[in-house]
Order: sequence, then structure tokens, then C-alpha cells
Amino acid sequence: MIKNADAVIIGGGILGLSTAFQLGKMKYGNIIVVEKELFLGSGATSKCAGGVRAQFTTRINIEMSMKSESLLVHFEEDTGYPAIFDQVGYMFLISDEIELETFSKAVELQRSLGLKVDLIDPSEINKIAPPVRTDDIIKATFCKDDGLADPNDLIQGYSTAARKQGVEILIETEVTGLKIAGDKITGVKTNKGDIDTPLIINAAGPFAKVVGQMAGIAIPVEPIKRQIVTTGALDYIPHTFPMVVDVKSGLYFHKESPGLLLGWADKSVQPGFDISIDPDYTDAILIRALERVPQLETAKVSKSWAGLYETTPDHHAIIGFAPDITGMFLNVGFSGHGMMHAPAAGLVAAEIICGKKPSIDISPLSPLRFAKGAIHEETNVI
Ligand SMILES: Cc1cc2nc3c(=O)[nH]c(=O)nc-3n(C[C@H](O)[C@H](O)[C@H](O)COP(=O)(O)OP(=O)(O)OC[C@H]3O[C@@H](n4cnc5c(N)ncnc54)[C@H](O)[C@@H]3O)c2cc1C
Repeated sequence: MIKNADAVIIGGGILGLSTAFQLGKMKYGNIIVVEKELFLGSGATSKCAGGVRAQFTTRINIEMSMKSESLLVHFEEDTGYPAIFDQVGYMFLISDEIELETFSKAVELQRSLGLKVDLIDPSEINKIAPPVRTDDIIKATFCKDDGLADPNDLIQGYSTAARKQGVEILIETEVTGLKIAGDKITGVKTNKGDIDTPLIINAAGPFAKVVGQMAGIAIPVEPIKRQIVTTGALDYIPHTFPMVVDVKSGLYFHKESPGLLLGWADKSVQPGFDISIDPDYTDAILIRALERVPQLETAKVSKSWAGLYETTPDHHAIIGFAPDITGMFLNVGFSGHGMMHAPAAGLVAAEIICGKKPSIDISPLSPLRFAKGAIHEETNVI
């Protein structure tokens, strides 16, 4: 098989498919998405906790989230496919003055950008999140417009709408190398044959660096394992229960019908592609969960899984044309917030590729920032 395309998107996860949808909508030309697995979205996207929040510490991340949230609200109108975006809110529990100072500054920035976010007293917390232990909490932030989305809905919606716009999606098709002439990409080599194209969009998630290596360029995205545990049914969790993040311990949890989903970032995990479940990691999540929600003592563990974050040194995504090679666009490195930023990221990527002014000034996400030393870290990463 030798095919031709105006653009080949490597990766049928949420980033690849939202970009495909937007490029199709903008009638960019003949677009092919290649996904190495049988199922679309079966990489990091399927492992995601579903959290969507605009409560970040940097302007660019707040803007990316606010744009994504507005696109999620109109997802069905836009794609013709219904998607759950349950705006149950996001709460950060603050237990000391240093955390309070950081979060108060972030709240100020978020409000200046139009986000409706409150700093609430411990007495308010249990009205929103009943079983949470609050005796050591001094304040919490709460944004009611944040919430939970279903990554599977988004994958179905973007892929169905992209196909309707003429985008071709090839599954079980792995890019094994790139065709390069001088400093220009001219195509991709796959296990099913070559596809000639002047433009590839690297949306390979945790494998972004590997695709970069095929062109001899360094993309600073590392795969880092993260685990999740879900509980069985819990009759004390209301359907309005929000996402709660315990800032001190790093534990996060939200309702996952009919119980809770619990997650935590083990900062000692080293980069690698292993996604086997580590029982010590599971225990570490459960210990933190019991401390924050003592009623979980009688809960049953339902499921547990591991997936990969695609982490950059400053915990910001990388969006833009790759340096040192012509014909590779990067939409990678979302550092644990790729599902929530995918709607905005697909839009701005397509706008730039089509030569339009992007809806958001994404210069802080430029691939050039690392070489220039112009990095600004996002510190509110879970
Ligand atoms: C445990 C966990 C919890 C998370 N929770 C949240 C959350 O609450 N909210 C949030 O916004 N984000 C969350 N994330 C992060 C989010 O899941 C990712 O940022 C997002 O899914 C990245 O999407 P992607 O399309 O870039 O990557 P992926 O979904 O991994 O897609 C990349 C695709 O590229 C394919 N691919 C790779 N190499 C090749 C190749 N050579 N040829 C062909 N195909 C290739 C892969 O098979 C894969 O399907 C979480 C992640 C994990 C692991």
C-alpha cells in the first residue's frame, strides 16, 4: 500500500482525534490518522480519570481549560455526538498557610481571567463533599464549572465527526519510521506500507519522544506511570459529588458510579513504558484515601489500572512546529491534563496549520521554549 495525504496524524488518542476533527472541519485536505492499536483511545486516554478543571497556576493553562470547557459544553452541537460533561465542580483542600498563599495567588489570576472560583471555609466543604475529613483543613478552593468528562464519549464524538468530514482513520497501523529528504519530512513508513505526506502531526502521547527520534529530534516528553483504584458502591456519595484534591497528600478522588475513583501521583516513579499494576502503589493510594475519607474502611476495591502521563519538564504541553526539521507539528506533552485540554489543543493546532490566528495565544507552549530557557512551570499538577 502506498498512499498520499496532505497530513498524517500519528496517534488515535484524544489529541490526534480532536486535531483530526478540527482540521477536517477547516477542510485542510486529505487527512489520515494512523493508530497502532485496534481501538482508538486505548492509550493514555482510556486510563484517564476524566477530570476537567481550569484551576491552574499559569495563565496559559487556565485559558486552555476555559476554552476546552466551553467547547465541551457545546460538544454535541459541534460534533453531532452527545458527551457527558458533568459540571460537579473541583475542590482543592488546603491544610497549611504556604499552600494557602500559593492557591490564593492562583485564585486571583483565575478570577482575573473570568473564572468563577471561590475560596471556601472548612464548614462549607461537607455541604459539597459529605464524607471528607476536614479537621486539619484551613480552606478549600471550589470552582463549580469544573467537573468530569467521559474520555470515551470524546473519542467516539471526534472520530465519528472526523470520518464524516472525510478524514481516514487507519487502526492497527504503526508508524515504524519516517521518510525524510534533506531536512524535510516526505512521508511515514508503517507496518502496512508507506504514506507520502509533507506534514505529520505528532500526537503519539507518551510515545511522542519515540516519534521525534525517528526524525532525529529530541522532544522532551517522558512516559511516567500513574495508577488508579475504584471502589465498589458507596451509598454516602451523592451524585453531585465533585472532584476533590487533597493538596498535602496529592490524593484525588471523585464519584465513579456507584463508588469513588481514587488516584495519586507517586513522584518517585521513573520514566518508562511499564503499565503493570504495582500493589505497593495501590496500597499507597488506599492509605491516603482512608486518611481523608475514614468511612472508606468498609469499602471494597472494584478495579485498578495504570497508565502513562506524558510529562514535560515544566508540565505544560508542547504545541507548534518542531524545530530542526520541516514538516512535523507537535501536539504533545500534556503532563496529566491532556484530556481536558484536547478540545482547545485540537482547535489551536488546526488553526495554526491552516495559517489562521489561533484562538488562544499559545506562545508559552512553543517547542522552542526549552532551547531558549524560557520555561515557566505549572506547579498545580496532580
Ligand atoms: C492515570 C491517569 C489519569 C489521568 N487523569 C486525567 C484527568 O483526570 N484529566 C485529564 O485531562 N487528563 C488526565 N490524564 C492524562 C490524559 O489521559 C492524557 O494527557 C491524554 O489522554 C493524552 O492523549 P494523547 O492522545 O496525547 O495520548 P494517547 O491517548 O496515549 O494517544 C496516543 C496514541 O498514539 C498511538 N501511537 C503511539 N505511537 C504510535 C506509532 N508509532 N504509530 C501509530 N500510533 C502510535 C498510541 O497507541 C495511542 O493510542 C490522565 C492520565 C493517566 C495515565
